[in-house]
Amino acid sequence: MSLDDSQDKLREECGVVGVIGSENAAYYTYLSLYALQHRGQEACGIVSLGVNGSPESKRFYTRRAHGLVDEVFNEARLAELEGVSALGHVRYSTHGEKRESNIQPFSFSGSLGHVAIAHNGNLTNAGSIRKSLEEDGSVFRSTVDSEIFIHLLAKNQRRRMEESIQIVMDKVEGAYSLAILTQDALYAVRDPHGFRPLVLGKKTEKDANGNSKDVWFVVSESCALDLLGAEYVREVEPGEIVRIIPGKEPVSTFAREKKPHKFCSFEPIYFSRPDSKHFGLSMYETRKKIGRVLAKESPSQIDVVIAVPDSGVPIAMGYGEQMQKPVEIGLVRNHYIGRTFIQPTQDKREFRVRLKLNAVTSVLAGKSVAVIDDSIVRGTTSVKIIRMLRDAGAKQVHMRIGSPPITHSCFYGVDTPDRENLMASKHSIQQMCEHLGADSLAFLSQDGLMRALGEKAGGSEETGRFCMACFNGKYPTDVQVNT
Ligand code: SF4
Repeated sequence: MSLDDSQDKLREECGVVGVIGSENAAYYTYLSLYALQHRGQEACGIVSLGVNGSPESKRFYTRRAHGLVDEVFNEARLAELEGVSALGHVRYSTHGEKRESNIQPFSFSGSLGHVAIAHNGNLTNAGSIRKSLEEDGSVFRSTVDSEIFIHLLAKNQRRRMEESIQIVMDKVEGAYSLAILTQDALYAVRDPHGFRPLVLGKKTEKDANGNSKDVWFVVSESCALDLLGAEYVREVEPGEIVRIIPGKEPVSTFAREKKPHKFCSFEPIYFSRPDSKHFGLSMYETRKKIGRVLAKESPSQIDVVIAVPDSGVPIAMGYGEQMQKPVEIGLVRNHYIGRTFIQPTQDKREFRVRLKLNAVTSVLAGKSVAVIDDSIVRGTTSVKIIRMLRDAGAKQVHMRIGSPPITHSCFYGVDTPDRENLMASKHSIQQMCEHLGADSLAFLSQDGLMRALGEKAGGSEETGRFCMACFNGKYPTDVQVNT
């Protein structure tokens, strides 16, 4: 992640977790949320399903609040979350107001029995579905898309939960990776395009009698499984509904309508942790490949390659490898900023950048430098970085970006500014270069990105497996907004 993230980065909006089959379900969920904290820092929650007096009677135990995982949970709060199954969610969102009732997982006990849900993504037809549900008498507790699933499930109950989910999948459009918890089972559901990742894992532990049993996990990214000491089993397929019941092998059902795969190309560029793997790719290796392709497309006359930390680092390594130039740490990030007090007399924006990043003069002085970042959103941060590098003595600064120019907003679960605030939607690359004050500026091409993502040579955006809509405006679904 780069500096001034709150203003000048695209932001993933959620991470989800589901656990079933262990008395430690809430604790495993908590650890997983830690590993997924990069997917949302505004709020988090855990809902567990435990017994309520007699073993036949169950109830949800819930803790949801604004704040980071280590601010919201502690040992005592986790101990209250009883049960052998749990869901977790981390959230950053612009869809829906910042209020308690919007924090997930959502849990309901009613005609459906006990059902809880955690959702990553955004629906592109949420407005019309919500309107018709409300006209039909549904009362919403929150202002976020995710609650729509619960109301649709309640209105379309069938004998088997999978059938109800299939009907809901017929109705909703857009991005959804879901973990759903019922009285008996954990379900993992991924939309037919597969925009957001969703991964299955398991680990074996002993029950109270010393017998082995499998604990199953559904997580947004595999890095959470590593922290749990769990085995990576596989990705949930686009359009797949996986039912997991303790003591049995998972059972798969699929959405009735098949749709072209459209994995979010920004997950490998920036959102996902580099130690995760999904979409059939290692995020780390893909970022290095992006760097190599970028160097082939846009080499530069340089002495040294540096990254904008942290997300630019693997891309810079690939760029330097291809250019056969040293990769150095030219910018150091302070990870411990918090809410530092800044005197009113200081230029706050400029000073905030200096708080977060500092240039290493010995690496930069008198050198021609390639500085690598993953993306440019508003460009406000890049201007300051380039000025900082020049102040540290860099002779020339060539900026290289590991994504194509971002020209369109995302409607699939990523917070993007309005189009007019995306620098590349209004300016040519030459104009951007002049504004940033770089000696040269180059972006990865769309074709280069597809190659780095392992797409076949000569493939088109239409046939490719990746969504590229924020680079070309070709949205894989109808979007009910002006683009
Ligand atoms: S529009 Fe961009 S950020 Fe959104 S899903 Fe597509 S590639 Fe990802």
